[in-house]
Amino acid sequence: MTLLDHLIARIRQDGPMSVSDYMAECLLHPELGYYSTRDPLGAKGDFITAPEISQMFGELIGLCLAQIWIDQGQPSPFSLAELGPGRGTLMADILRATRNVAGFHEAAQVLLLEASPALRDLQAKTLNGFEVRWINTISDLPEQPLFLVANEFFDALPVRQFIRDGEGWRERLIGEDSGALAFGLGPDAAQAALQDRLTDTKDGDLVELCAAAIPVLTCIAERISNKGGAALIVDYGDWRSLGDTLQALQAHERCDPLGDPGQADLTAHVDFEPLALAARATGCAHSRLTPQGVFLERLGITARAQALAKSLSGSELEELIAAHRRLTHPAEMGNLFKVLGLFPAHSAPPPGLES
Ligand code: SAH
Repeated sequence: MTLLDHLIARIRQDGPMSVSDYMAECLLHPELGYYSTRDPLGAKGDFITAPEISQMFGELIGLCLAQIWIDQGQPSPFSLAELGPGRGTLMADILRATRNVAGFHEAAQVLLLEASPALRDLQAKTLNGFEVRWINTISDLPEQPLFLVANEFFDALPVRQFIRDGEGWRERLIGEDSGALAFGLGPDAAQAALQDRLTDTKDGDLVELCAAAIPVLTCIAERISNKGGAALIVDYGDWRSLGDTLQALQAHERCDPLGDPGQADLTAHVDFEPLALAARATGCAHSRLTPQGVFLERLGITARAQALAKSLSGSELEELIAAHRRLTHPAEMGNLFKVLGLFPAHSAPPPGLES
């Protein structure tokens, strides 16, 4: 049975499904889902992420977290957590970069939130030699100071899509048309969660809601607000999203999101404002939304690249220069990707995220 067969059977039984249900099935169906069945990352995979582009990304994130840990009086024990760790590369770079920070590794309890068994196996291999624990839901984070990173995690969470219709909204749904999947629209209905979007949208505009992000963010912010720590949330998106950002990628090329369910990566841009509001509701502070390029430059990526360059030549040196540019340049990932920092009220924002 293919995922398409399963989805068509489900639609025939229950009627058209939301974009959010469709994303969840495509990405995380236990046997047929995209993340459940493969390692999607890297040159041979479907997409590449910042930690896979260069070790500099994880090193700077690691040193940033370690600096906050020192500034907060070196709490011990603390959770060193990552959401959606992919191949484990980012956490490996964080741990390598912080190995000489006195007491940091001894105090750290490494916790990974990962839904895919295939990727858990890969993370275990990458992080061989370190004591790591996987958690199944965000509320499993212990009640202790939390130092957390999430890179390209929130964009994988399912979104619902709504199209403005007068003073109400119609949900974009996925149904069946002669054995294939097709977009359609649900009935006109008021949406309490979109009430504030009536002011900045017009008839026919599409907005997205990522309900799953809110409990995750709330739990993180509560730990930080009650116990201390910080979180760095890195993703593509903007303060408020407008328009259809559902995107499918296969072998580094955009493709039809309904074309080959379960075989392509599906993401949506992250809407950072609801995340920031959820943080504030717990009493946790958040930084200004900062472009990734600005964040990495402030943390010293150019000095780090120059240091690494000293021992390189030829194609390796060219790769390093290209990686630096790719991570920071506004025309590449530097501007599209943003960083939101969470930190306890009355503390300073994380290094690199000062306004
Ligand atoms: N952070 C990594 C990988 C990003 S890909 C990197 O930067 O390279 C998205 C990651 O989130 C994958 O590890 C995927 O399996 C995981 N993921 C997606 N949805 C998830 C969910 N609902 N719960 C836990 N992990 C999830």
